[in-house]
Amino acid sequence: MPERTESESRKLLRRLRDTLAAPGDGQARLDSITHHIADSMRTQVCSIYLFCDPDTLELCATEGLRRQAVHQTRLRLNEGLVGRVARTGRPINTANAPAEPGFRYMPETGEEVFPSFLGVPIQRVGEKLGVLVVQSREAREYSDDEIYGLEVVAMVLAEMAELGAFLGNGAQLSAHRLPLVFRGSTGQEGSAEGHVWLHEPRVVITNPVGDDPEKERARLTEAVAMLRQTVDDMVDSADLVSGDGEGVLEAYRMFARSRSWLRRMEEDIDLGLSAEAAVEKEQSHARAKLESTGDPYLRDRLHDLDDLSNRLLRILTGQGRNTGIPMPADPILVARNIGPAELLEYGRSLRGVVLEEGSVGSHAVIVARALAIPLVIHAARITSDALNGDPILVDGDTGLVHLRPEETVAAAFRDKIAMQTEAQKSYAGLRDLPAQALCGTTVKLMMNAGLMADLPSLEGSGAEGVGLFRTELQFLIRSRVPRRSELAALYLRVMDNARSKPVIFRTLDIGSDKVLPYMKRIDEPNPAMGWRAIRVGLEKRGVLQMQLQALIRAAEGRELHVMFPFVADCDEFYEARAMLMAQMEREAAMGHAPPTGVRVGAMLETPSLAFAPEAFFRACDFISIGGNDLKQFFFAADRENERVRKRYDTLSAPFLDLIEMIVNRCAATDVPLSFCGEDAGRPAEAATLAALGLRVLSMRPASIGPVKALLRRTDLAALKALIDTERAAGTVTLRPVVARFLGLT
Ligand code: PEP
Ligand code: MG
Repeated sequence: MPERTESESRKLLRRLRDTLAAPGDGQARLDSITHHIADSMRTQVCSIYLFCDPDTLELCATEGLRRQAVHQTRLRLNEGLVGRVARTGRPINTANAPAEPGFRYMPETGEEVFPSFLGVPIQRVGEKLGVLVVQSREAREYSDDEIYGLEVVAMVLAEMAELGAFLGNGAQLSAHRLPLVFRGSTGQEGSAEGHVWLHEPRVVITNPVGDDPEKERARLTEAVAMLRQTVDDMVDSADLVSGDGEGVLEAYRMFARSRSWLRRMEEDIDLGLSAEAAVEKEQSHARAKLESTGDPYLRDRLHDLDDLSNRLLRILTGQGRNTGIPMPADPILVARNIGPAELLEYGRSLRGVVLEEGSVGSHAVIVARALAIPLVIHAARITSDALNGDPILVDGDTGLVHLRPEETVAAAFRDKIAMQTEAQKSYAGLRDLPAQALCGTTVKLMMNAGLMADLPSLEGSGAEGVGLFRTELQFLIRSRVPRRSELAALYLRVMDNARSKPVIFRTLDIGSDKVLPYMKRIDEPNPAMGWRAIRVGLEKRGVLQMQLQALIRAAEGRELHVMFPFVADCDEFYEARAMLMAQMEREAAMGHAPPTGVRVGAMLETPSLAFAPEAFFRACDFISIGGNDLKQFFFAADRENERVRKRYDTLSAPFLDLIEMIVNRCAATDVPLSFCGEDAGRPAEAATLAALGLRVLSMRPASIGPVKALLRRTDLAALKALIDTERAAGTVTLRPVVARFLGLT
């Protein structure tokens, strides 16, 4: 068989395009396409298999196999060579198909066995649509050029499917019509029903085939030049802001300048693709690799390529971000990832958020919590499957997302939302009542905050103050270091909004997962245990000093509460407190009226601090247990790593022993103690902490109602007695008995 030339490939693609343009139904188009491909590639067989549900492929058209098999022959993903191509997203090329592992003879397709087989996936930016196969009688492997040529054809088929060219052929051709379920993880609890609003809508390519390669190359070159210019501008403006900021952006710039990337796209154009189809073909390849690689460096680079491809597609097609389309009235934002500032811009107009990436502590999650919007993270590939306006249900409690749900699912979901609304109403009735347990003990419930957007919840939730104000959020949502005057104005507004209720400001806790976009990223093997929080503050003193000055100025005429994060050694606390006192003197010397009093506390987030000398406890005005970090270091289990995080339970005897020891040490030294990690807002955990002696719990505003309701119907003394008995008997996992006692099972 002769090698295929560029012009043959282009001729074939033109025929495909004419097929697309000609009137006719989907089936007629598919039939004519298989005929053209077999003819052009001089093979006896050409077949198109398409997904009829997410696990099954159906033979939808063929030249060379029995016609009767069309729409009859079906394959599961684990069946046959066709199933393997679909599963792996990679071509199979063999001269002896029957000898290949997994080969399945399908008698209904014809008596004959064809030894040579070449199958390539039909996919669009990582979304698998089906498999294109050619087979011939002559036992031979297909050349690299032929494989490449068939991939280009498959790419055009994918684009044609996206445009609806094959609708009405009897099979479900577009994954965009099926109901789908995504199993992600909880970012923020709550449920919402609405319609998809894509943060970055899919670019639609209406002309996958290019007539004139010279013209397409020129279009590509021009678009790439524009892309490079934007990337250069991005790098330069990042430099202007912070004096550094290269790192990530530099790698990005290198990619934008990659010769091999451009060369591959030019080769695609030479075979007959339009410039945009060439960009998308390489993007699909990168996505397929992204799914199969575990190497974090390579993943980052492939993400860069994906992002650059999207930008390039927008330049080439002129399709911007959702321009001209009205946002639905009940938008659920669907995105690969989103920055905190962008999410804040959407604000409370969103009903929910679904991300493909993100992590429990990521900035977007923090903002979604502040806005009290249900959020699901790790919903793999949802941006490929969702279209603007699709109906969608988001269950932030379980991490499940239903896209284009069946009516029965939607009805059950609505019942759940109605029940939650009812529960919220009953919590609202408790708002002004104390969290007083049956045994008479009263627990103070405070809320965690970090944005102005949080403050209205202080009133609505009945919180007795802000037990943790995460000041880093103001730094994270900006593109530069905020000025002292800006911070002072914000802190003042926060205190004004809180009226007479106390606000405990935690100083900047950056590092670990909270990386400021404008700070030089330092490569640390273990950032959670690296240069973060107070460690940064004591070394890069300028920023912490500036923040302390802003706090002192804002607190003029009232009491100031400052808390230092992640203190692992008592000397760190002493040094930070000395810094605060020095700033007090400086501010006074400059003529600023001082706060009426200053209370200085430490966050106990590492086991080491629980064993600090007694003098340390006496030196603190208060201590707050940062349970999220304390737990991760106690169990040596990364709080961001779903796989290990879930193995260890707060309600286990060793962790509760540690908490009790801290409670006792604080009681012995008369230091007020609170708990402000996520566990404070989980009812069973909150009741257990209270039973162990914690009298202040600080949590998300939405948790105050459920926690208060449970505490008011619990005898904490009896719960403590039960926990003691179980621990004495050697029970390690206390959750089942605690849950039963609390009536939560
Ligand atoms: C904690 O670690 O429990 C805590 C409250 O701090 P953050 O979650 O901000 O690290
Ligand atoms: Mg912490």
